[in-house]
Amino acid sequence: MPDEVRTTPATTPGAAGSALDTAHAQLASAVQILGYDDGLHRMLATPRREMNVAIPLRRDDGSTELFMGYRVQHNISRGPGKGGLRYSASVDVDEVRALAMWMTWKCAVVDVPYGGAKGGVTIDPSRYSSTELERVTRRYTSEIMPIIGPERDIMAPDIGTNEQTMAWVMDTYSVNMGYTIAAVTTGKPLAVGGSLGRATATSQGVVHAAAAALADAGVRLDEVSTAIQGFGKVGSHAARLLHEAGTRVVAVSDEHGGVQASDGLDVPALLAHVAAGGAVAEFDGGTPVSNAELLALDVDVLIPAAVEGVLDADAAGRVKARWVVEAANGPTTTEGDRVLAERGIVVVPDILANAGGVIVSYFEWVQANQAYWWTEQEIAERLELRMAASYAAVSAVSRREGITLRDAALVIGVRRVAEAHQIRGLYP
Ligand code: GLU
Repeated sequence: MPDEVRTTPATTPGAAGSALDTAHAQLASAVQILGYDDGLHRMLATPRREMNVAIPLRRDDGSTELFMGYRVQHNISRGPGKGGLRYSASVDVDEVRALAMWMTWKCAVVDVPYGGAKGGVTIDPSRYSSTELERVTRRYTSEIMPIIGPERDIMAPDIGTNEQTMAWVMDTYSVNMGYTIAAVTTGKPLAVGGSLGRATATSQGVVHAAAAALADAGVRLDEVSTAIQGFGKVGSHAARLLHEAGTRVVAVSDEHGGVQASDGLDVPALLAHVAAGGAVAEFDGGTPVSNAELLALDVDVLIPAAVEGVLDADAAGRVKARWVVEAANGPTTTEGDRVLAERGIVVVPDILANAGGVIVSYFEWVQANQAYWWTEQEIAERLELRMAASYAAVSAVSRREGITLRDAALVIGVRRVAEAHQIRGLYP
């Protein structure tokens, strides 16, 4: 067989600078450190299974539209696929592939018994009514029914989706199966089997990760300032929790722009302003700041909590923070990462820093499977323990091997997945 045929991977690395390109480069770096051969590298780089579906929608006015939806199961060697569902106008299958791959390493690095998966629908949810989004969600769920389930692939919220979306997915799946199956999604409302602490888990985990990274340098959360890009499900709670921990939150933004105050923003007042329907940039307790300016502010800790690729080489060259804690998935490009490393900026990587969400998703799934619910305190303690243990393991490998925290996290995650794959053996 000609070499180029034998070695063609099922997926191409994606456009330069894209999320998939970044994900492939990160894997290649870990594979090189681990000394894996080409065959194993290709297996780890290639999604195990993908489903592309067309989703017709009857709009409230009677017209019809069509959307594309995807579910990618990157790896299921360590357990069921696990990962969010994203609704965004820019979602394509390559982005979903990258996000699914990151879920695989994330679940492995914090040692929850899942593989990695992700879903997406190419839709701008802000342009559709709640009843329209319900129909899109139910049709998407029914199309991907054959590959999801509490033992197969478990969904959770991501950008553009929320607790209500997860309730619709769970209901559609359950009605079709004939009985209630709460464990098919996580991040559900408490009323239908959600978990205490899940809504704030990703942000809480980011705070634990930031505290651990600061502690490595003998610094505490109440001694630092921070800027947070993104004020959605992750960024807003991170701002509140950091403010409560005594951190000076100097700037926050959403996709329309941000607000800054060098003495620190009144975060509770900002949260109330946004809860009342105000835009972050219109908050009168500070001065306007653009998203690009926010990344370059003179703060100690920078927290990208929005979308992929914002810290490219250019933006990374302007970062003044000493720590970057990645609350978003894939906020730093490969070039951006190189620049930050060269400049001695510590990056706490996404697959570790934002893993609190999937950790409490795991707790929610365990509780649903056992139909026995834990207290908020039990969840908070178990989350903190797991984040601390995972950070300590990553930090130890980083110091021992002289590699970045990102490479150390990837090495641990990728090694666990490869080990499971190899011990199971190949069938046939
Ligand atoms: N969407 C979240 C993430 O990217 C949560 C995934 C989950 O809980 O399954 O980590």
